[in-house]
Amino acid sequence: MTSAIQAELVNGPFGDPALVLDLAFERRALLFDIGDVAALGTRKLLRVSDVFVSHAHMDHFAGFDRMLRVRLGRDASVALWGPPGFTDRVEAKLGAYTWNVIGGYATEFVVTVHEVGLGWSLRTARFGSRSAFAREPLGERSLPAGELCRTPGYTVRAAFLDHRTPCLAFCLVEADHINIWKPRLEALGLPTGPWLTELRRAIREGAPAETPIKARWRDRDGAREREFTVAELVRDVVELTPGQRIAYATDATMTEENAARIVALARDADLLFIEAAFLEADRDHALRKAHMTAAFAGRVAATSGARRAVPFHFSTRYLGGGHRLAAEFEAARAAAMGWQPPSGALSSVPIRDDNRTDA
Ligand SMILES: [Zn+2]
Ligand SMILES: [Zn+2]
Repeated sequence: MTSAIQAELVNGPFGDPALVLDLAFERRALLFDIGDVAALGTRKLLRVSDVFVSHAHMDHFAGFDRMLRVRLGRDASVALWGPPGFTDRVEAKLGAYTWNVIGGYATEFVVTVHEVGLGWSLRTARFGSRSAFAREPLGERSLPAGELCRTPGYTVRAAFLDHRTPCLAFCLVEADHINIWKPRLEALGLPTGPWLTELRRAIREGAPAETPIKARWRDRDGAREREFTVAELVRDVVELTPGQRIAYATDATMTEENAARIVALARDADLLFIEAAFLEADRDHALRKAHMTAAFAGRVAATSGARRAVPFHFSTRYLGGGHRLAAEFEAARAAAMGWQPPSGALSSVPIRDDNRTDA
């Protein structure tokens, strides 16, 4: 099946972290981190509904200004999600500009900030352009552990990593694909029609098994109607296939605790983006900077069982030598999976030094 979600690192493996996840069916996109996003372009930036920020180090958050710039004066509100202290960071950024004229704009632009607490609380605040982006607290609620938000189309899960500051890793879990078997419908003498939209909605929203669904249609005998339960239809005419899982983990100290948390979050992901900032030869430097080496990240990726893994957030000290990080990552991943890649296979690693990574 062709995927409904396109994932792409905006700046390749060496540039600021920003992973754009385009949800074609929802006509919108999500961002995991928002470093420099100039390469994304205005049209794509306007498609972004939610930005999930791992932590507010500048390389992960500096693109917020550009996001703000392209949305001012447009009816294009955005939601931001981030770790403890994040609302203060956003407020400080908004406080850096003079907003004496935007109150009179015809449209209101709203930044909604969701701050995730270490105990899985969610504190929400609103910053609206009509009130010069003054903070308006919208309350606090508790989250199911590890689950930031759930929509009919997807869930975003998170894990806290230690980066000498709390840092969030994310996993987008697409909802199951609901396939209707037309031959089975025909065998039951049922037509396609709007009633199937109702069925899809009921499944997506997790309606109880006994929820009634009415198939209505017209034929030469006039209006027809038959009633089924959701459970009957799921059994007889529906096939559910799992949606995609795309995990993103970056900026973590090399500890067993961090490794275990990434593994749990990315378990059986279709695609894992994971930082591989330094070579194992520079391990001491990686530890000082609270980052992972490519070898460490490769072992974590292998243990998670992720089907594909893309190393990124390479330190610019290796600029021009990205293939060394990619090779070390792949070798460690292959070794931890219990097999050695055939010689020559490493050149197929999809990493280019200064261009975009094809995800
Ligand atoms: Zn970073
Ligand atoms: Zn960082």
